[in-house]
Amino acid sequence: MRDIQKENKARWSEKRAEFLLTGFTFHTSCGGKFRGSNTNGGRYKYYVCRECGEHFKKDIFEKSIFDELLRDDFLEDLNKNLEDNSNKNNQLKRLKKQLRNLEAENDKALKFLMNETITESEFTKIKQKNLTEINNIKESIINIEREYIPTDQLSLDVIEIFRITLKELDQDEFVEAKAILKKMIKRIDFKDLKNFNIYLNI
Ligand SMILES: [Zn+2]
Repeated sequence: MRDIQKENKARWSEKRAEFLLTGFTFHTSCGGKFRGSNTNGGRYKYYVCRECGEHFKKDIFEKSIFDELLRDDFLEDLNKNLEDNSNKNNQLKRLKKQLRNLEAENDKALKFLMNETITESEFTKIKQKNLTEINNIKESIINIEREYIPTDQLSLDVIEIFRITLKELDQDEFVEAKAILKKMIKRIDFKDLKNFNIYLNI
Protein backbone atom coordinates (compact mmCIF):
# COMPACT_ATOMS: atom_id res chain seq x y z
CA MET A 1 0.00 0.00 0.00
CA ARG A 2 2.72 2.38 1.02
CA ASP A 3 4.78 1.51 -2.03
CA ILE A 4 1.89 2.30 -4.32
CA GLN A 5 1.44 5.66 -2.63
CA LYS A 6 5.11 6.35 -2.99
CA GLU A 7 5.05 5.34 -6.61
CA ASN A 8 2.06 7.53 -7.33
CA LYS A 9 3.71 10.43 -5.65
CA ALA A 10 6.90 9.93 -7.62
CA ARG A 11 4.96 9.68 -10.86
CA TRP A 12 3.02 12.81 -10.00
CA SER A 13 6.13 14.87 -9.27
CA GLU A 14 7.72 13.49 -12.43
CA LYS A 15 4.70 14.69 -14.40
CA ARG A 16 4.84 18.14 -12.87
CA ALA A 17 8.57 18.41 -13.38
CA GLU A 18 8.08 17.62 -17.02
CA PHE A 19 7.18 21.29 -17.43
CA LEU A 20 10.69 22.51 -16.82
CA LEU A 21 9.89 26.21 -16.76
CA THR A 22 6.98 26.47 -14.35
CA GLY A 23 7.44 28.09 -10.95
CA PHE A 24 9.53 31.03 -12.14
CA THR A 25 7.94 32.02 -15.45
CA PHE A 26 5.47 34.91 -15.44
CA HIS A 27 3.21 36.31 -18.13
CA THR A 28 4.36 39.88 -18.82
CA SER A 29 0.94 41.05 -19.98
CA CYS A 30 -0.98 40.20 -16.82
CA GLY A 31 1.63 39.14 -14.23
CA GLY A 32 0.17 35.64 -13.96
CA LYS A 33 2.31 32.58 -13.40
CA PHE A 34 2.54 29.90 -16.07
CA ARG A 35 1.51 26.37 -15.19
CA GLY A 36 1.72 23.16 -17.16
CA SER A 37 -1.35 21.62 -18.70
CA ASN A 38 -1.95 18.18 -20.20
CA THR A 39 -5.01 17.62 -22.27
CA ASN A 40 -6.31 14.55 -23.99
CA GLY A 41 -4.36 12.16 -21.80
CA GLY A 42 -1.16 14.11 -22.17
CA ARG A 43 -1.26 14.25 -25.94
CA TYR A 44 -1.40 18.04 -25.96
CA LYS A 45 0.88 19.88 -23.62
CA TYR A 46 0.74 23.59 -22.97
CA TYR A 47 2.11 26.28 -20.75
CA VAL A 48 -0.98 28.15 -19.59
CA CYS A 49 -1.15 31.52 -17.81
CA ARG A 50 -3.06 31.07 -14.55
CA GLU A 51 -4.51 34.56 -14.73
CA CYS A 52 -5.62 35.15 -18.31
CA GLY A 53 -5.43 31.69 -19.80
CA GLU A 54 -3.10 32.56 -22.65
CA HIS A 55 -1.27 29.41 -23.63
CA PHE A 56 1.65 28.22 -25.70
CA LYS A 57 2.57 24.75 -26.92
CA LYS A 58 5.05 23.23 -24.49
CA ASP A 59 7.71 22.27 -27.04
CA ILE A 60 7.79 25.64 -28.77
CA PHE A 61 7.68 27.53 -25.47
CA GLU A 62 10.64 25.62 -24.07
CA LYS A 63 12.60 25.77 -27.30
CA SER A 64 12.38 29.55 -27.45
CA ILE A 65 13.73 29.88 -23.90
CA PHE A 66 16.50 27.31 -24.27
CA ASP A 67 17.60 28.72 -27.62
CA GLU A 68 17.90 32.13 -26.01
CA LEU A 69 19.83 30.78 -23.03
CA LEU A 70 22.32 29.04 -25.28
CA ARG A 71 22.67 31.87 -27.74
CA ASP A 72 26.31 32.99 -27.71
CA ASP A 73 25.44 36.67 -27.44
CA PHE A 74 23.19 36.10 -24.47
CA LEU A 75 26.05 34.76 -22.42
CA GLU A 76 28.41 37.37 -23.81
CA ASP A 77 26.07 40.17 -22.78
CA LEU A 78 25.82 38.64 -19.36
CA ASN A 79 29.58 38.34 -19.22
CA LYS A 80 29.99 42.03 -20.04
CA ASN A 81 27.56 43.00 -17.33
CA LEU A 82 29.41 40.90 -14.81
CA GLU A 83 32.76 42.37 -15.76
CA ASP A 84 31.41 45.88 -15.57
CA ASN A 85 29.89 45.12 -12.21
CA SER A 86 33.10 43.65 -10.92
CA ASN A 87 34.99 46.82 -11.98
CA LYS A 88 32.48 48.88 -10.09
CA ASN A 89 32.94 46.67 -7.08
CA ASN A 90 36.71 47.31 -7.13
CA GLN A 91 36.17 51.04 -7.50
CA LEU A 92 33.80 51.03 -4.54
CA LYS A 93 36.29 49.14 -2.40
CA ARG A 94 39.04 51.62 -3.29
CA LEU A 95 36.88 54.67 -2.55
CA LYS A 96 35.68 53.27 0.76
CA LYS A 97 39.24 52.65 1.79
CA GLN A 98 40.18 56.24 0.93
CA LEU A 99 37.25 57.41 2.99
CA ARG A 100 38.39 55.39 6.00
CA ASN A 101 41.93 56.78 5.66
CA LEU A 102 40.71 60.37 5.59
CA GLU A 103 38.54 59.80 8.62
CA ALA A 104 41.49 58.25 10.43
CA GLU A 105 43.57 61.30 9.49
CA ASN A 106 40.93 63.55 11.04
CA ASP A 107 40.99 61.52 14.25
CA LYS A 108 44.76 61.76 14.35
CA ALA A 109 44.67 65.53 13.83
CA LEU A 110 42.20 65.86 16.69
CA LYS A 111 44.53 63.91 18.96
CA PHE A 112 47.45 66.16 17.95
CA LEU A 113 45.35 69.21 18.71
CA MET A 114 44.44 67.87 22.13
CA ASN A 115 48.02 67.17 23.16
CA GLU A 116 49.02 70.46 21.57
CA THR A 117 51.29 69.03 18.88
CA ILE A 118 49.47 71.20 16.35
CA THR A 119 47.71 74.56 16.65
CA GLU A 120 44.01 75.23 16.32
CA SER A 121 44.48 76.84 12.89
CA GLU A 122 46.60 73.94 11.61
CA PHE A 123 43.89 71.56 12.79
CA THR A 124 41.17 73.57 11.00
CA LYS A 125 43.21 73.56 7.80
CA ILE A 126 43.62 69.76 7.84
CA LYS A 127 39.96 69.28 8.61
CA GLN A 128 38.82 71.60 5.83
CA LYS A 129 41.00 69.88 3.27
CA ASN A 130 39.80 66.44 4.31
CA LEU A 131 36.18 67.52 4.36
CA THR A 132 36.29 68.54 0.71
CA GLU A 133 37.88 65.23 -0.24
CA ILE A 134 35.46 63.24 1.90
CA ASN A 135 32.50 64.93 0.24
CA ASN A 136 33.87 64.24 -3.24
CA ILE A 137 34.42 60.59 -2.44
CA LYS A 138 30.97 60.21 -0.90
CA GLU A 139 29.43 61.65 -4.04
CA SER A 140 31.39 59.24 -6.24
CA ILE A 141 30.27 56.31 -4.08
CA ILE A 142 26.63 57.32 -4.43
CA ASN A 143 26.99 57.58 -8.21
CA ILE A 144 28.59 54.16 -8.56
CA GLU A 145 26.21 52.46 -6.16
CA ARG A 146 23.29 53.72 -8.21
CA GLU A 147 24.31 51.39 -11.06
CA TYR A 148 25.89 48.64 -9.07
CA ILE A 149 24.18 45.32 -8.45
CA PRO A 150 25.39 44.15 -5.06
CA THR A 151 26.28 40.51 -4.94
CA ASP A 152 28.67 38.60 -2.78
CA GLN A 153 29.84 35.93 -5.12
CA LEU A 154 30.16 37.56 -8.48
CA SER A 155 32.28 35.36 -10.65
CA LEU A 156 32.92 35.05 -14.37
CA ASP A 157 33.31 31.29 -13.96
CA VAL A 158 29.61 31.15 -13.24
CA ILE A 159 28.90 31.79 -16.92
CA GLU A 160 30.97 28.83 -17.99
CA ILE A 161 29.42 26.55 -15.41
CA PHE A 162 25.99 27.73 -16.48
CA ARG A 163 26.68 26.93 -20.12
CA ILE A 164 28.08 23.46 -19.40
CA THR A 165 25.24 22.62 -17.03
CA LEU A 166 22.65 23.72 -19.53
CA LYS A 167 24.20 21.76 -22.38
CA GLU A 168 24.46 18.63 -20.29
CA LEU A 169 21.02 18.96 -18.83
CA ASP A 170 19.25 15.69 -19.47
CA GLN A 171 15.74 16.78 -20.23
CA ASP A 172 14.42 13.27 -19.70
CA GLU A 173 15.51 13.37 -16.07
CA PHE A 174 12.81 15.90 -15.35
CA VAL A 175 13.02 16.14 -11.57
CA GLU A 176 16.76 16.64 -11.57
CA ALA A 177 16.77 18.93 -14.60
CA LYS A 178 14.07 21.09 -13.08
CA ALA A 179 15.92 21.40 -9.77
CA ILE A 180 19.00 22.63 -11.64
CA LEU A 181 17.04 25.11 -13.73
CA LYS A 182 15.30 26.41 -10.64
CA LYS A 183 18.67 27.11 -9.07
CA MET A 184 20.02 28.87 -12.15
CA ILE A 185 17.03 30.90 -13.31
CA LYS A 186 15.63 33.55 -11.02
CA ARG A 187 12.71 34.61 -13.18
CA ILE A 188 11.43 34.68 -16.72
CA ASP A 189 9.08 37.40 -17.88
CA PHE A 190 7.34 35.97 -20.91
CA LYS A 191 5.20 38.05 -23.25
CA ASP A 192 5.26 35.83 -26.30
CA LEU A 193 7.65 33.53 -28.17
CA LYS A 194 9.74 36.46 -29.37
CA ASN A 195 9.52 38.79 -26.37
CA PHE A 196 10.76 37.60 -23.03
CA ASN A 197 13.42 38.40 -20.44
CA ILE A 198 15.42 35.85 -18.52
CA TYR A 199 16.99 36.73 -15.18
CA LEU A 200 19.63 34.41 -13.78
CA ASN A 201 20.62 33.71 -10.19
CA ILE A 202 24.14 35.05 -10.39
ZN1 LIG B 1 -1.67 36.13 -18.51
